[in-house]
Amino acid sequence: MYTSTRDNYDIVSAAQAIKLGMVPAGGLFVPEKIPCFSLQEMMSLRDSTYQEIAQRVLTLFLDDYTEEEIQTSVKAAYNEKNFNHPLIAPLKHLREKTYVMELWHGPTAAFKDMALQIMPHLLSYAKKKVGEERETVILVATSGDTGKAALEGFKDVPGVRIIVFYPHKGVSKIQELQMTTTSSSNTFVVAVKGNFDDCQNAVKKVFSEREFGNELKRAGIELSSANSINWGRLLPQIVYYINAYMQLLKDGKISFGEKINFVVPTGNFGNILAAWYALQMGLPINKLICASNENKVLTDFFNTGRYDRNRGFVQTTSPSMDILISSNLERFLYEMSGHDGEKISAWMQELAENGGFRVDQSIMDAIGEVLAAGYADEIETKETIGRVFSETGYTLDTHTAVGMKVYEKYLEKTGDSALTVVDATASPFKFNNSVLQAIAGPDALIGKDEYEVLQALSEYTGQPVHPGLRDLDKKPVLHRRICTKEKVQEEIKSILNI
Ligand SMILES: *Cc1c(COP(=O)(O)O)cnc(C)c1O
Repeated sequence: MYTSTRDNYDIVSAAQAIKLGMVPAGGLFVPEKIPCFSLQEMMSLRDSTYQEIAQRVLTLFLDDYTEEEIQTSVKAAYNEKNFNHPLIAPLKHLREKTYVMELWHGPTAAFKDMALQIMPHLLSYAKKKVGEERETVILVATSGDTGKAALEGFKDVPGVRIIVFYPHKGVSKIQELQMTTTSSSNTFVVAVKGNFDDCQNAVKKVFSEREFGNELKRAGIELSSANSINWGRLLPQIVYYINAYMQLLKDGKISFGEKINFVVPTGNFGNILAAWYALQMGLPINKLICASNENKVLTDFFNTGRYDRNRGFVQTTSPSMDILISSNLERFLYEMSGHDGEKISAWMQELAENGGFRVDQSIMDAIGEVLAAGYADEIETKETIGRVFSETGYTLDTHTAVGMKVYEKYLEKTGDSALTVVDATASPFKFNNSVLQAIAGPDALIGKDEYEVLQALSEYTGQPVHPGLRDLDKKPVLHRRICTKEKVQEEIKSILNI
């Protein structure tokens, strides 16, 4: 069963948690107990495929789903039609003890596909299970990548409409085109004049407005969320951490039970939290390394114990990490505080009212056992892309480069000799302008439009353009809505015709 991080809601089944998205009274659903494998059981996954590991992990957490429902969902999501690599999330050896886990082989070229290809199936089953017949309207706030991944996952799903809000001028041109060219009658895309936090706050506010909720109810509509606050987003991400370990074990790169590190370019703290759940399930992990860009609110928090969002928002070349309110941290703090819902409530209230809170030293000690944090600035990020390309021939995207740089700094400081997997969270083609400039010099963009830059990057790196980005220039822009952050609710009404 699933409980609220703020102890303010009844316990619910997995299906209910996935259907609701977040706790109606505020707070996030977390599993009451985290299922755990013995070391023997864990290592027995060595010869399992990605799909088999997904089946095992999902079954443990979704005990109100039938085996067949999970199997159908896994098959529909992780196949060679949706992912352009048979291993789904392959590892590439970069150098010495460093590996890269490519999480961008899905349809939209970012790691969000890993969860959003399966979540719509889990949601459809959840609705059936709880006898929900109302239409579901998915609201998504995106810093760039979630939006398109959610649109692809939910397009043409019966009984569902999806509305995506993204920061106007706050995403890359390619990201914007990916979203605004989506052709499906149940998808809507809105640019919000503001940054990602404005989008996320506006959407969170819509969820918490009772009166509006009742109005929707009368119109036969229920809201849900596809952001990583939904458990159905987080859960599928646990799978690739276990899968990565098994690939290394099978290839003889690590020994039975050997502990490894994961480096995670972090924004909303969803991806790295999934790694922490894998650790709790018994995966041998030494350290989780949390990497931030210049919006280093998490790095500061992990190094000082004070979360402080009162600071300038920096627009960086890794926009999917441009976040000052990292929603899933709430789940992590709930775990680190020994399930102290009252404390979490108080901190979240302080965060909402004053923009910050401070946690106890005992919690910082618990965090320090498993997690290290650092950040990379814009110059370092660009330098890392260029240097890694010239030294190894491997092309990092801007987010992955933040992770790589933070890992390099961590290595220098600690000398930690554990084998390390850096999450590659986006294809370099998705951030074509920044990546091409970093590897080919500042003049590389002159006179080129978006598509020519994709081509140039392909020629320069010898890699084919990611299939999800290939024909963008041939698709018409179908979505042109734009609104202020104050008008998000009205925009929703206008879209839904209520
Ligand atoms: C969403 C995203 C991130 C941040 O992931 P979180 O789960 O929000 O921490 C990092 N890199 C890319 C490319 C992303 O799309």
